[in-house]
Amino acid sequence: FHENSPEKQPEEIAMEASIRPQTFADYIGQAELKTELQVYISAALARDESLDHVLIYGPPGLGKTTLSTVIANEMHVNIQTTSGPAIEKTGDLLVLLNELEPGDILFIDEIHRLPRQVEEMLYSAMEDFQVDIIIGQDEGAHPVHFPLPPFTLIGATTRPGALSAPLRHRFGIVSHMRYYNQEELQQVVQRTSHVFHSQILDDASLEIGRRSRGTPRIANRLFRRVRDFAQVYRQDDCIDLSITQEALNVLNVDECGLDSIDRKILQLMIQFYNGGPVGLSTIAANLSEDTTTIEDMYEPYLIQQGFLQRTPRGRIVTDKGFKHLGLTKQEDR
Ligand code: ADP
Repeated sequence: FHENSPEKQPEEIAMEASIRPQTFADYIGQAELKTELQVYISAALARDESLDHVLIYGPPGLGKTTLSTVIANEMHVNIQTTSGPAIEKTGDLLVLLNELEPGDILFIDEIHRLPRQVEEMLYSAMEDFQVDIIIGQDEGAHPVHFPLPPFTLIGATTRPGALSAPLRHRFGIVSHMRYYNQEELQQVVQRTSHVFHSQILDDASLEIGRRSRGTPRIANRLFRRVRDFAQVYRQDDCIDLSITQEALNVLNVDECGLDSIDRKILQLMIQFYNGGPVGLSTIAANLSEDTTTIEDMYEPYLIQQGFLQRTPRGRIVTDKGFKHLGLTKQEDR
């Protein structure tokens, strides 16, 4: 794993669970999405029905899993958590479905990675709350009808485009998560700091927010590293701006929150291709990364920040991108 990757790192799982917001009141940012979901939840509660199926999409670390937990709490139901690659066979899905109580939530992370047969079983489960399975083999094979309680499927994905149309159409609610602004990330840091009983000054939490690539997971991770520095270098352990800047520089996070891979992408495109257009596969090959990693984790933030553009002929570095690296474009002769 790359140090600043927005993807979850194995040692973070327990820690993330301990700082995860549990209610909408605790869930920072994503205001529009929250307002909308609150309406659907209130309506479902008033009608005493299960919530419609929800698809949440957006880059890693923005709070998709957290939001699902919040939805479960607000609906007062249980949540079962799994992921696309973890459900290998239809039997695995059946086990999960069998454990659901009426109204419960089944959360499937990386839902675009479900095996085809599992996905097909999900269609009737989602639409009619039932599945038909074949039991036995050859002569003895017979269909068995398996009714399910009404439940809510929440699917999360970094790549909505990779979802098949029939699956996508079975979600009544589609939520698009956006990158957080620096004030929202400051609040994430302040909240985590409070949970950890540490003291952080306002300008320091804002600095972490500014340099977190719009991503709460990164904000929390940078906060923990900065806190280590304060513990070692500050007598009162207080996290101030200068120790924050020092730590973030050591961590190779620049003032715009770009990490070393982000900068490498821009550098490579400028140095060898004069800023592009460059094809995605060329960029990926040069960095020894796969194309989906670049496309899902790095590119969206670089585009959102205006450093990179997608064109039909490939990716190009913008003037802002050149400027950020202190480089200039070679003019065509
Ligand atoms: P995803 O499922 O999108 O990869 P997670 O839900 O696992 O992201 O969130 C990553 C981390 O960021 C968690 O530790 C969570 O506590 C924190 N986090 C995410 N969204 C928020 C939010 N809106 N407010 C506060 N903390 C958040």
